[in-house]
Amino acid sequence: MSASVMSGVCRVCRCTDEAPCVLNAGGYVVGDAAKTCVWIDDAHTLCSSPTCVAEIPMSELCEMTLSEYEWHRLEVALSEVPL
Ligand SMILES: [Zn+2]
Ligand SMILES: [Zn+2]
Repeated sequence: MSASVMSGVCRVCRCTDEAPCVLNAGGYVVGDAAKTCVWIDDAHTLCSSPTCVAEIPMSELCEMTLSEYEWHRLEVALSEVPL
């Protein structure tokens, strides 16, 4: 793990619990109140902003230990990545 990756700070956009990204609510996770980003991983180093998820190679995402729900969140975030 590189020194620039800190728990509680998104490694891509540097958002934190105190200052999360505001996401477009349109089409976001049904039943999930998230209008702000949530942590994708247990270590709290990657948030669910589609632009952040898009920065992380799929191979690295696969190496994260994610629960089924976390994977669902990740898939939703990926589906919102503008191609
Ligand atoms: Zn982020
Ligand atoms: Zn964020």
